[in-house]
Amino acid sequence: MRAPSKVNLHLGVGDLRDDGYHELTTVFQALSLSDDIEITPAASLSVRVSGEGAEQVPTDRMNLVWQAAVRLAHRAGRAPLVEIAIRKGIPVAGGMAGGSADAAAALVGLNELWDVGLTRDELATLAAELGSDVPFALYGGTALGRGRGEKLLPVLSRSTFHWVLALARDGLSTPTVFRELDRLREQGDPPRLGEPQELLQALASGDPAQLAPLLGNDLQAPALSLKPDLRRTLRAGTTAGALAGLVSGSGPTCAFLCESEDAAIAVAAELSGAGVCRSVRTASGPVPGARVVGEH
Ligand code: ATP
Repeated sequence: MRAPSKVNLHLGVGDLRDDGYHELTTVFQALSLSDDIEITPAASLSVRVSGEGAEQVPTDRMNLVWQAAVRLAHRAGRAPLVEIAIRKGIPVAGGMAGGSADAAAALVGLNELWDVGLTRDELATLAAELGSDVPFALYGGTALGRGRGEKLLPVLSRSTFHWVLALARDGLSTPTVFRELDRLREQGDPPRLGEPQELLQALASGDPAQLAPLLGNDLQAPALSLKPDLRRTLRAGTTAGALAGLVSGSGPTCAFLCESEDAAIAVAAELSGAGVCRSVRTASGPVPGARVVGEH
């Protein structure tokens, strides 16, 4: 299976709800930077992880693919007897929902392997129980998310957009970034994003230059407060010629929107030499959600 990453083109964070989650209004785009997941029937459930940041990823029931397998097996009335191998391409704790993408891919793959026959919408209900970003990883494309981000509506996005991603040396924990936002809001009244209507129109137009000034993320201020060096990274991307840059989700990955594929390659080359991040990737979006790409 291929599991796509995501960037939030718009991430508006509302008030803290009684259940401890914040009310979100977000526009997700699935990106070609992805993880690969391979599932093999086995005598017991196990998870193996290799690639980008593998040593930081749990291989026990803390791994979201483990939880996905247990839930789907329960639903299918069988035991989860599979080995799941994850090859990470998505930075771990990078604000690109890699764990969620893996879980979505495991649901799609096991639904097929075990012949469970759930529709994508039925899988999305299971996905929402696993995590707020898991339903989007199932559908992919470009979508408007509300609630915790799990209530999705597809969004018309007319062309392929080209991105450069600056991967940071260490990750940021999503709950820590939300707590920092709450702290900043207690201290003062930092500006909040409004509704994303204009951004949705820009997506429909397909013009990256129209989209660029409308990108926004309420988690950027707390991410920068926790990692002030990210300011340099953001500046370096726009200096290198990107149309705009923003922190992806809860960070610390920075995402830069570029005019074209060639522009993205040029920005990536310049950013690599600027010494402001661990590594640089190019990616494009929107791409489809988690899907089967090969069979043995
Ligand atoms: P979020 O989806 O909350 O924005 P993120 O994109 O910043 O998170 P992830 O890479 O999804 O970050 O992982 C966050 C944490 O989840 C990791 O530090 C890791 O401990 C745990 N985790 C569980 N399963 C996985 C997985 N399959 N891949 C990566 N991390 C996982």
